[in-house]
Amino acid sequence: MTKKNPDFLIIGAGIVGLTLALELKKQFSDATITIIEKESQPGVHASGRNSGVLHAGFYYTADSLKAKLCREGNFAWRQYCEDYKLTLNHCGKLVVARNEEELNGLAELERRGKVNNVELEMISAKEAAEIEPLAYTLERALWSPTTATVNPKQVVESIQTRLLDEGVSILNDTAYIKKSANGISTSKGDFTPGYLINAAGLYADKIAQDYGFSEDYKILPFKGLYLYANDDGLKLRTNVYPVPDLRNPFLGVHFTVTAENKTKIGPTAIPAFWRENYTGWKNFNLEELIDIVGIDAGLFLSNNFGFRNLAFKEMQKYSKKKLVQLAGTLLKNIDFNDFKQWGAPGIRAQLINVKTRQLEMDFKYEGDGKSFHVLNAVSPAFTCSLPLSRLIVEEIIKLKNN
Ligand SMILES: Cc1cc2nc3c(=O)[nH]c(=O)nc-3n(C[C@H](O)[C@H](O)[C@H](O)COP(=O)(O)OP(=O)(O)OC[C@H]3O[C@@H](n4cnc5c(N)ncnc54)[C@H](O)[C@@H]3O)c2cc1C
Repeated sequence: MTKKNPDFLIIGAGIVGLTLALELKKQFSDATITIIEKESQPGVHASGRNSGVLHAGFYYTADSLKAKLCREGNFAWRQYCEDYKLTLNHCGKLVVARNEEELNGLAELERRGKVNNVELEMISAKEAAEIEPLAYTLERALWSPTTATVNPKQVVESIQTRLLDEGVSILNDTAYIKKSANGISTSKGDFTPGYLINAAGLYADKIAQDYGFSEDYKILPFKGLYLYANDDGLKLRTNVYPVPDLRNPFLGVHFTVTAENKTKIGPTAIPAFWRENYTGWKNFNLEELIDIVGIDAGLFLSNNFGFRNLAFKEMQKYSKKKLVQLAGTLLKNIDFNDFKQWGAPGIRAQLINVKTRQLEMDFKYEGDGKSFHVLNAVSPAFTCSLPLSRLIVEEIIKLKNN
């Protein structure tokens, strides 16, 4: 077996592709594994452009993979960061309520947290002020002590180093182009893998369709903008989040304390017009634009999961002033001048069922004895990636043995 003819070939060197390779090496130490990545290095997309929050696991309904994996993933990454001496901020999270309705939302999150066996505490507004004096909450808040933050790029680099040490080939600047008679065609020639795993993030649906999967699904990209507090500006002690609208998978604009103790607002969930629509016209793709605008227009008319309101609200967040104003409702006061610097945006590879026009809320994958496709690795897939990869490898073993 060679790099071009490996036992396992993984498309995509994001956190999912990388942790999958790590898990495969654990299970099959002699197997040859090649990862192909279209960019010049791993982690250029979502995995290097996220909030770096190790979520605790209380948002998700008990029947979901997110609920099943998040708590374990949070523990596993915290342990990993300690073992490999990576930056880890044990800053926790406060979920605050701004009105009566949100108090009901807090109670629902507390209930979900209990069912998911996540450490959580309902605390008084006075206790919340002791944790973060600037946070505003009505009567009560939820305190999550196990939420932590990491530097996602540092984590990606660390896994990459481990994989290279274990003999995994990571081929950068190598883009999957199409399925071929015996394998795949890439920008660096043909490969004939024993088994193919698609962990291509924003393009996972397209690749899956080449293999007859993802029939009812497409990726609908949502842009996450970040706005940083000036170095001499606001410094929060903990992450401060609102009660989210549980009809959609986004958590609402919030304050994150990064691994390096910087405070940032975001990410937004602004409908993007093409898959890698980060800034300006970069990576413009007309075909994607037409497709995405068509889906967005349908959602706008049907107003499924409150899309109309979501789109209106989110589009306003291109304005720094509006973004600070909206996030500012989570704090007792906020100074607009404290926030000047946009951070690198990230794009969520959110899956939509094009038949029902509903966003897929949970992780999703499909596969058979020859190929496997990770379709909805949205937040908190970074947190969940270690146990998610273990689960996926178990699935692959079953499929290959059938
Ligand atoms: C704004 C934002 C904030 C988030 N915050 C959090 C958070 O705080 N905590 C958390 O747990 N999760 C968070 N997430 C989610 C998390 O970042 C993702 O779930 C995770 O990074 C997905 O990893 P991935 O490997 O599937 O995707 P990616 O990181 O996108 O990797 C896919 C890779 O596939 C490559 N690729 C695509 N097409 C091809 C091709 N044709 N050939 C070769 N390679 C290809 C891409 O270049 C890319 O490197 C956030 C996401 C976003 C966007």
